[in-house]
Amino acid sequence: SFQLMADLIKLEVFVAPHQAIEPEIAEKLCEMHGFVFEREKREKGGGVHKEKKKVKEPKAVEHEPEEKLEYRAPIITFMGHVDHGKTSLLDYVRKSRVTKGEAGGITQHIGAYHVDHHGHPISFIDTPGHSIFTEMRARGADVTDIVVLVIAADDGIMPQTKEAIEHAKKSEKTIIVAINKCDMPGADPMRVKTQLMEHGLQPVDFGGETECVEVSAVTGQGMEDLLELMALQAEVLELKANPRANARAAVIEASVQPGKGPTATVIVRAGTLKTGMPFICGPYAGKVKSMFNDLGEPVKEAGPAIPVEVIGFAELPHVGDELVQMKTEKASKKLSEERLQAKRNDRLQRPKMSRMEDLMSMVQGDNKAQLNIILKGDVQGSVQAIENAVNDIKSDKVEPRFISSAAGAITESDILMASSSGAVVLGFNTKVEAKAVKAAKSEGVQIKLFSVVYELLDTVEEAMLGLLDPIT
Ligand code: GDP
Repeated sequence: SFQLMADLIKLEVFVAPHQAIEPEIAEKLCEMHGFVFEREKREKGGGVHKEKKKVKEPKAVEHEPEEKLEYRAPIITFMGHVDHGKTSLLDYVRKSRVTKGEAGGITQHIGAYHVDHHGHPISFIDTPGHSIFTEMRARGADVTDIVVLVIAADDGIMPQTKEAIEHAKKSEKTIIVAINKCDMPGADPMRVKTQLMEHGLQPVDFGGETECVEVSAVTGQGMEDLLELMALQAEVLELKANPRANARAAVIEASVQPGKGPTATVIVRAGTLKTGMPFICGPYAGKVKSMFNDLGEPVKEAGPAIPVEVIGFAELPHVGDELVQMKTEKASKKLSEERLQAKRNDRLQRPKMSRMEDLMSMVQGDNKAQLNIILKGDVQGSVQAIENAVNDIKSDKVEPRFISSAAGAITESDILMASSSGAVVLGFNTKVEAKAVKAAKSEGVQIKLFSVVYELLDTVEEAMLGLLDPIT
C-alpha cells in the first residue's frame, strides 16, 4: 500500500490506505505496473465465451455503478461472553418481530432471520459467538455490518468480550454495545462503560463514539432503543447493493437434511436469488430447487441482505463459501470441474505452510514468515494463557498469528479454516472430532495435541526458530 500511495502522490492524488480512488486513477496505476485495467462488463447472451475454453470465473467483487444501488438491510451479529445473554436477546427480537402477520409465527432456526422494525429492515445472524464470524472472515466472506457487543451489567467485560472487541476492531466493524441484564439487582451499567474505555471503546455518554444501550432480554427494557440504533447506524453506513446484479450469497449454515439433501442457509449479498437459478458454490455446482424463509415458508426470490434456506446443492457447501449465480447449468458444472481440479492441483503444490517443520522454507530474505495457528483448548483460561505465551516468543524469522483460538474439541470447521489459511491446529487437553480427523487427512492439515503447556510452547518455539527436524 505504501508503494501505491507513493505512486499516487506522483499523480498528485493524496489518499490514505483503504480510501477509494477514481477508476481513471486506478487505470493509471495499473499502467504503471503493467496491469491491464478492466471494468466489469455484463456479457450479453450465453454465459460462456465461445473463443475461450475455460469457463469465466465470476468476479470476486462487484463494482456497481452508484445509480444501480439500493439500500439494503444491515446484517447484525451478536457477540460477547458466554451467558451474557446473546441468545436471549436474539430470541427477544425474533419473538417481537413487528411485521404484520408475522407475530406469533413459528420461526424456524435457519441460522439467520430478518425483521422489519417500523419500516427499517434488519437481518440478524442467529448463531451467536464468534466461531462463525472468524470462520467467515478466514474465508473472506464476512457478511456482518454491525457487531452488537453484549455485556452483562452484573458481570462486566470478560475474556470472550475482549476477544469479541478484538475481532470487531480487526475487521473494522461498527460496534454497538448492549449492556444486558439491567433488570438484575447487581447491574452496574456505569462500571461496564468505564471498562469499555479501558478497552478503547469510548461511550457516547463520555464524549466518545461508541453507542451503548442499557437493555434487558427479560423485561424488554431498552430493546426498542437498541433496534432503533441499529437502523440508525445502518443509515450512517449507507449500506447498498444492486438487486439486479448477478446474484451472490454467502453460506452461513449448512447441513444435510432428511428428505432435502444438502441444504444451506445463505445470506444474499448482491442480486436476487431465484428458484431455478443455476449456481456455483465453492467448488460445487447446483441449482436453486426451492428456498424457504426464516418462517419456513417457501419463497421464490430473495434480495440483498435476506437470509434464505436453499435446497439444490450437489454437495454440502462450507460455511463461508460464496454462492454465485451462473448463466447456465452447463457452465456451472464446467466451472465446478475446473475448481475441483484446481483444488487437487493446489493440494499437490501448495506453497502455504501445512506443517510446522516446513515453516523455515517460508522465510524469504528479510521477510518474516507467518506461523498461522488455530488453537483449541479445554477451557478459555488456558487457551488465553497459551495465546499470550506464544505471542511472547521472540523470533527474527517467524511471527505467530492466531487465526482463531477457543475452548472445545477440534472440529471439521477448524480444519477447513486451517486449510484455507495455511494454519496448523494445536490442541491442548482436547480431542479431535472424527469428522475433523477425516478432513485433516483430506486437506493435509497438521494437528498437534498436547497435554502439558510447556511442551506445546517448546514445540512452537522450536518451529519458530527452525529447530524442528524436517519430516521426510
Ligand atoms: P448466551 O450464552 O450469551 O447466549 O446467554 P443466554 O442468552 O443463554 O443467557 C444466559 C442466561 O442469562 C440465561 O439463563 C438467561 O435466561 C439469562 N438472561 C439473559 N438475559 C437476561 C436479562 O436481561 N436479565 C436476566 N435477569 N437474565 C437474563
